[in-house]
Amino acid sequence: MMPKEYDFFRVVQDYLDKAAVAANLESYVATILSQPKNELIINFPVKMDNGEVRLFKGYRVQHNNLLGPFKGGIRYHPSVTLDDVKALASMMTWKSALMRLPYGGGKGGIKFDPTAVSKAELQRITRRFTHALGENIGPEYDIPAPDMGTNSQTMAWMMDTYSNMVGSAQKQSVKGVVTGKPVASGGTLGRTKATAQGMVYCLIEWAREHNFDLEGKTMIVQGFGNVGSYTALILAKLGVSTVAVGDHTGYLYNPEGFNAHKLQEYVAKTGSIAGYPNGKTITRDEFFSTKADIFAPCALENQIGEAEAKALDVKLVVEGANGPCNPVGEKILEDKGIPILPDVLANSGGVTVSYYEWVQNKRSESWSEEEVDEKLEKAMKRAYKEVADFSRTKKVTFRIAAYAVALGRIQAVYKEREIFP
Ligand code: NAD
Repeated sequence: MMPKEYDFFRVVQDYLDKAAVAANLESYVATILSQPKNELIINFPVKMDNGEVRLFKGYRVQHNNLLGPFKGGIRYHPSVTLDDVKALASMMTWKSALMRLPYGGGKGGIKFDPTAVSKAELQRITRRFTHALGENIGPEYDIPAPDMGTNSQTMAWMMDTYSNMVGSAQKQSVKGVVTGKPVASGGTLGRTKATAQGMVYCLIEWAREHNFDLEGKTMIVQGFGNVGSYTALILAKLGVSTVAVGDHTGYLYNPEGFNAHKLQEYVAKTGSIAGYPNGKTITRDEFFSTKADIFAPCALENQIGEAEAKALDVKLVVEGANGPCNPVGEKILEDKGIPILPDVLANSGGVTVSYYEWVQNKRSESWSEEEVDEKLEKAMKRAYKEVADFSRTKKVTFRIAAYAVALGRIQAVYKEREIFP
């Protein structure tokens, strides 16, 4: 059973309150950051393949743009709500600040199931939403990227739609309106795997500090989309074997370890792990009690509540997803002595490489994958160290430390610029 009465935005607010104390945040800064700057709701019509017109509800929340343009993904999922998007948008503000990116935070989404529409419908939904967003996005104002249910194809459609809305003379200069584009359309090498790659760099730092040899370790992964599949794939190269996986269709177990590459190809072809031949079907409960060294939640928020946290038999949780642990689950993991590498730190490789893409677009450059990875590795290592040091000095969890480091950076700018007028 899923924990009830979960309020994602409230959960993030509570972290903000705790981190504000740890970071000695002035109360006016905490007050400003407690709510997003702008909340946009757009109901827009789309003609479906059968000729019917369906109304869709889209959101874009712009949390803060003190450090730079609003930045954050677009989610397509039936459970998207305004409050969830607010929570995710604020987390983008913390991630950008923690990673020292010249960005603020934003997030958007459309409430629908992208797997239940045709590709042509998906394209029309994306283009109509982008058109409706109009001047509320822009390469120097608000820059969307992929999130759950969206990918580089979605970004290509968004970029193309946006570039057709500006004058011909500007078309080439607005490529940076979205990041996570396909490489041929102005994307960067290394972006597709960036979130997972960043998680792995973070994990390597943690492993180094804790004399935890990754070679020969086992992992369970919830969500086998972009973040989950690349995490399994990259860690396989470091000797970590993925013994259980799950997605929206169910869970599979293979004590020998899944071939992450083959499973990724299978999911790309069929849309899910359902029916994959090299694994035994298990229940969600069995998945959460599978003994392993690492658990990488890479699906939705609010997946690890009381029952899941009690069941988990792992040594470390690395949050690929945003908000996968609810506060009850988190407390139980803490009491069990299972450390958590929190979302705001662990999955910030995505926005970091999005920034590299944006810089390349501005400069009309294309960097090699090695260059991207090298920069990302440095950025993740530095952020990990800052968070680990803060956590040790102030005796707070990594999550509160990650928020606090970010808040400190934002507060410094508010103090310099002061409040208009
Ligand atoms: P995705 O759409 O590529 O994959 C999502 C996966 O979650 C799929 O395997 C899906 O089947 C699974 N899933 C959906 N509902 C589920 C459920 N009820 N139970 C179990 N599994 C379920 O999305 P993604 O881009 O990999 O994003 C996954 C998570 O990572 C999200 O929380 C997202 O916000 C976060 N994230 C993504 C990025 C990025 O760059 N894509 C960056 C940072 C954080």
